[in-house]
Amino acid sequence: MTTAIYPGSFDPITNGHLDIIIRASKLFDKLVIGVYDRPDKPLLFTTEERANLVRKSVTDLPNVEVRIFSGLTVNFAREMKAQTIVRGLRMSADFEREFDLAMMNKKLSPDVEIICFMSDLQYQFLSSSLLKEAARLGGEITNMVPKHVAEALRKKVGNQCKN
Ligand code: ADP
Repeated sequence: MTTAIYPGSFDPITNGHLDIIIRASKLFDKLVIGVYDRPDKPLLFTTEERANLVRKSVTDLPNVEVRIFSGLTVNFAREMKAQTIVRGLRMSADFEREFDLAMMNKKLSPDVEIICFMSDLQYQFLSSSLLKEAARLGGEITNMVPKHVAEALRKKVGNQCKN
């Protein structure tokens, strides 16, 4: 059985992430999305909220499951009995970071393979951070995220503005 993990912050999940998930789910028997508990960047949603938004986005994909993890990604891969780590690549912006991450993970665990999916053209410029910025400024985000994510985002940003 082929198993892959797709780790990330997913703060929140976007249609760009979802496209990678759908494509990867066709290549592996099982895909485990790993929602990283403590990324070293400021987050808008709590870990549970991020995981729940991902869960709600993948209900139609029977071979996809969602887990929260912390610590080394390669350890999470081992725990899930995954042979592969899936990541997404947008234009040139992601390359250096993904390359460094892949090299480090390969050193830590040579038996785990890293596969990067090229982002679809329509999602090349879609990132969770820009999405949050657009939502804060009242921009139209409906075609960038699943409906329930757009709602959660509007609510969260609205609450922040009130505080
Ligand atoms: P991380 O903090 O691990 O980078 P992200 O949630 O930002 O977490 O991204 C997870 C993975 O998804 C990364 O490999 C990132 O490059 C990829 N990704 C993010 N947005 C897109 C997109 N629009 N298209 C394709 N891949 C993407």
